[in-house]
Parts: sequence; structure tokens; C-alpha cells
Amino acid sequence: MPSHIYDTILIGAGGMGSATAYHLAKSDADVLVLEQFQRGHTYGSSHGETRIIRFFYDKPFYTELMKTAYAEWRNLEAESGKQLLFITGSVSLGESGNRYVSDVRKSLDAAGVESEWWGVDQFVKQFPQFRVSNDMDILWQKDTGFLYASECVLTHLKLAEQYGSEIRENTLVTDVDLQTEVPTVYTENGKFRGRKIVITAGAWTTTLLTEINLPLTVTKQQVCYYKPTESIQFQPDHFPVFTEITTEGEFIYGMPYFGANGAKVARHGMGDSVSPDTCNRTPEKDYINRIDSYVRNRIPELGKTVYSEVCLYTETPDEDFIIDQHPECPNLLIAAGFSGHGFKFCSLVGRIMSELALSGETEFDISPFRIDRY
Ligand SMILES: Cc1cc2nc3c(=O)[nH]c(=O)nc-3n(C[C@H](O)[C@H](O)[C@H](O)COP(=O)(O)OP(=O)(O)OC[C@H]3O[C@@H](n4cnc5c(N)ncnc54)[C@H](O)[C@@H]3O)c2cc1C
Repeated sequence: MPSHIYDTILIGAGGMGSATAYHLAKSDADVLVLEQFQRGHTYGSSHGETRIIRFFYDKPFYTELMKTAYAEWRNLEAESGKQLLFITGSVSLGESGNRYVSDVRKSLDAAGVESEWWGVDQFVKQFPQFRVSNDMDILWQKDTGFLYASECVLTHLKLAEQYGSEIRENTLVTDVDLQTEVPTVYTENGKFRGRKIVITAGAWTTTLLTEINLPLTVTKQQVCYYKPTESIQFQPDHFPVFTEITTEGEFIYGMPYFGANGAKVARHGMGDSVSPDTCNRTPEKDYINRIDSYVRNRIPELGKTVYSEVCLYTETPDEDFIIDQHPECPNLLIAAGFSGHGFKFCSLVGRIMSELALSGETEFDISPFRIDRY
């Protein structure tokens, strides 16, 4: 049995694990991070250059939590000296009377976050890149933007290391033994002991937690990128983040031209259930055709998809997160089921997991995320 006992062993160094490692190490905890692949890999949920960050949600508790999440991202930028958060503002679009857009407005109002109804004329004057009909509801929210996602993960990990955390890449965790007085984590390269174990394993969570039946479904998602010839009008200072509920009930979102791949447009959810280890990661042509057809109608100057990639969602039945202790073992903490909308919360989830690991409690209301709601 290894003699060294870590304060916390973290399993998984994606968006949530990297942020948790940073907060724990910054609080002087002795942390070991175990990651099955190399940092920044493209097999999980946190790769790619952009993720939307927004206040607007149809459930008010998310809007409330976002206030601290934004502040934590700003703290990370200040500490690292890197720009990670790009504010562009956003438009939420829906057919007139659409419930989604009015629910978004309600939750913003309830949280005291400003938003504005825009008429079609005002919208197309501000953003002539869009084609919309006169019967659309258009809600503007100025604080929305995107995170430079891949860089957020690397920055959290780099700072965690600078604060003394040990990160072992290419180290697959095969088992966690909670029966011993101090939990033991087994890997292909040896075993480790930690007073607390934090599982931030994304799509692989249920593989590690076979004894509790977490209702998690892993789905295959895809995104499309566009490189219009007139790219200047799609840069972050000219083009907003946008979301739309289409007449077919799809949730389409997009963001400005950023990084190597261009402007991203995608459909949230509706992916097939897959296993993270055997998922076919070849982009599907039908999906590309569907997004191209949306773009042709709504933002024609974007042109056609130049690149498409696959990513995984880990979904819960209500699309709300799981942030809790293991029901039978308080030394094991779980952050999972981020259901395709978790990245913007990484900065806060990292802080929450660190507080739970260090003191067993957190000042934030995580009651909507308890396991026993299922
Ligand atoms: C296409 C797409 C678009 C998205 N858009 C947005 C958006 O605009 N805004 C937003 O807020 N969110 C968005 N999300 C959601 C967000 O990206 C995820 O919620 C978030 O990245 C989840 O992070 P995670 O740490 O839980 O998972 P991951 O980043 O996948 O991390 C889990 C890590 O655990 C490791 N691991 C697993 N098992 C083991 C093991 N046994 N041993 C060692 N290591 C292990 C994995 O290798 C992986 O690195 C999007 C997701 C996708 C897929």
C-alpha cells in the first residue's frame, strides 16, 4: 500500500477537473489529478475553442449561479494574464409568442439581469448578417459571450501545477476502493490513496461508479464551422452569440469567427446515445446538411461548413447537473451530468468541489443538483 496520502485525488482533467484542481491547489491542498489521456485531448466534452457563456436560462437558479461563475472567469484571466472570456452580446430568437424566449426574459428579470426586446428593424440594422421574418421575438442580452474553452482547461491545469498539484496524464483509473479507511484509487500505473476522491470523469462517470445507478446518458453531438470570405463582419466585435428555437423545435446556436476553425453553428442535443469508448467520431453528413440549410436561410453569407467535429454530452433526465457526495461514502464527491451546458460553470463548479472536498460544505445552493432527486 502506498504510504503517501493525498488530501484529494481528482479523476478526470477536463473542464470540471481542471478547475477543481486549480481551486484545491490554490487552497494549499495536496492534490493528485489522474487523466486517462493527454491534457487538451479531443475525446471528451471540453475540447474545441469556444463555448457560450450567458446569464440567460429558463431556470432562475442557473442565472443566479452565473453571477459568481463570470466573476471566477475574470479572476482566472487576471491571475493568468490571458483573455479567456470574450463578450459579444447575444440575441435569442424564436417565433412570435415562443415560450422559450419569454421564459428566458422572465428568468433574467427575476435575477435582475438586464435584457432588451428588439424589433426586427433594430436587429437587422445592428446585425445585417441575419435574415429574419417580421414575426420573430428577438431578445438582446449584452453580457453574453464565449469562453476560449481549450485555453481555459490548459490555464486551470497550468496554475494548478504552479500551486503544487501533481498531474498524471495517460493514467487510466480502473477502480476506486471505498471500503478501506482511506480510499484507494487503482490505475494501470499503480495505486494511490487520498482522503477525498473527486470524480469529474464526464462521459465515463458511470464506468467508474457502477454501484450507484446514476441516470446518465452519453450522446454524440456535432458542431459545424464556417469560414466566410468576408470574415471581418463575423469577428467577435461585429457578430453576436445567437440562440434560436426553430419552428421544428430545434435549439440552434452559433458564435463569432474565432480561432483556427472559424464561426461555429450547431444544434443543441438530439444526439444518439453512445458509449464514449466506441463512439464513431466521424462527422455525419446529414447533420452538416441540416446546419447548412439553417445557415443558408438565417445567415447566408456564412456559406457552407468547412469543418465539423464530434463531441459528447453526458445528459441527466432533467438536464440539471449532478453535484453531490456519493450516497454511501461522504469521502467521494461527484460532479457530472453537465448535459451540454456546463462549460460556462466550470470556474464555479471547481470552486464548489474544492469547498466540498475541504470542508464538506459550500456557500452555493447546489440543492437542484442532488442525486436523491432521482
Ligand atoms: C458540442 C458541445 C458544445 C457545447 N457547448 C457548450 C456551450 O456553448 N456552453 C457551455 O456552457 N457548455 C457547453 N457544452 C458543455 C460543456 O462543454 C461540458 O458540460 C463540459 O465540458 C463537461 O466537462 P467535464 O469535465 O464534465 O467532462 P470532460 O471535459 O469530458 O472531462 C472528463 C475527463 O475525465 C477523464 N476521465 C474519464 N474517465 C477517466 C478514468 N477512468 N481515468 C482517468 N481519467 C478519466 C476524461 O478523459 C476527460 O478528460 C458543450 C458540449 C459539447 C460536447
